[in-house]
Amino acid sequence: MKKILFVNPCADISGAEMSLLVLMKYLDRTKYTPLLLIPNEGILRARAEALGVTVRIFPMHAMMLERNVKTSLRDSFISAGELGQIARLLKELSPDLVHVNSYRVGIPFSLASRKLHIPSVWHLRDIPESGAKKKLLSISTRLPDKTIAISHAVAFALGKKLHSGLIVIHNGVEINLFQNVQPGKFRKELNLAEDTILLCSIGQLIPWKGHDLLIEAFQKLSVEQPLHLVIVGGNVSPIWASSREYSDYREYLEQLVDNHNLKGRVTFTGFRDDIPQILTDIDLYIHTATSPEPFGRVLVEAMAAKKPVVAPNWGGIPEIVTDNVTGLLYEPKNVAHLAERLEFAFENLQHITQMGEVGLKVAREQFTAEKYVEKVQAVYEGLL
Ligand code: UDP
Repeated sequence: MKKILFVNPCADISGAEMSLLVLMKYLDRTKYTPLLLIPNEGILRARAEALGVTVRIFPMHAMMLERNVKTSLRDSFISAGELGQIARLLKELSPDLVHVNSYRVGIPFSLASRKLHIPSVWHLRDIPESGAKKKLLSISTRLPDKTIAISHAVAFALGKKLHSGLIVIHNGVEINLFQNVQPGKFRKELNLAEDTILLCSIGQLIPWKGHDLLIEAFQKLSVEQPLHLVIVGGNVSPIWASSREYSDYREYLEQLVDNHNLKGRVTFTGFRDDIPQILTDIDLYIHTATSPEPFGRVLVEAMAAKKPVVAPNWGGIPEIVTDNVTGLLYEPKNVAHLAERLEFAFENLQHITQMGEVGLKVAREQFTAEKYVEKVQAVYEGLL
């Protein structure tokens, strides 16, 4: 039995943690025992424990590669004390492999693992925004024994060609969770008339997810049918939400809805635990990231629920959604083009319903939890 130590730099839940939970759930327990390290108490602990995973708290905020790359560099490399703490922890836990679920704490954990001759794996789930961070990451992905990028877009962002140390494994979704859900519960909660077309966006309430762009496009739509827009998602983890820009974001969006006289036609739900129910009850899923989306597991979830998607053509999205086949892609950040694509969707409801059906087929063929975990386990097997 091999012990895998998963390291996650926060205890809240967003896409990275959803994918980690799927990985720990489907891990072959006859071969691997998962153990999870998080920096503080949070919802992730209960979710992991419910899967039978032992969770250990280990403060790691100080060593995180954050927005300020210069300070982070100093913190990441110079703090021998922190490296010593990690090394002591690794000696105590004696994992056979360390799997870091984010670049943010990759450097100190891989340095400590190396010292103890423990193989380490990085899971790269972000597209670094600044040139300096890109460069740093590009160099430091030599540290772990293997780096898994969640999309080709993430791998390319590092300016690297794929090589034996850097591979792409797309995230996986539990497709069955989105099947056979009794429809209606969520629409009832919203109190919608039968003929209302329900549009939906799901994701952290964080500026780069582009909810403002979505609201702008929504108010431009001139169609016959009654439309309702639901924006699902909670505030971003307090660890990342240090700036005002983040904490006031929901207020800003609500103001925008007011300014466009859309009150009553847009609903904010906050974080929800019933995404399969929500996706079953909607008519169209809309994604509006205003920075390249590294992957976007919610797109696969929408496809698993047989829903057509409208999404910007960048980042990992075109690796999931094929224009005119499983959804409609639009020019990123272009409100007019998004509105145009949405109007096209409403004028061609039968066509886009078919796209939803193809979407389910693609999700089943390419993005299952089983395939995802099988590929990650193959990485472990190569290192152990
Ligand atoms: N999610 C959720 N409840 C919410 C909002 C999001 O469970 O209220 C889930 C969503 O179903 C998906 C994940 O969070 O599994 C978001 O992942 P994605 O890759 O789309 O975005 P990220 O959070 O990584 O930017």
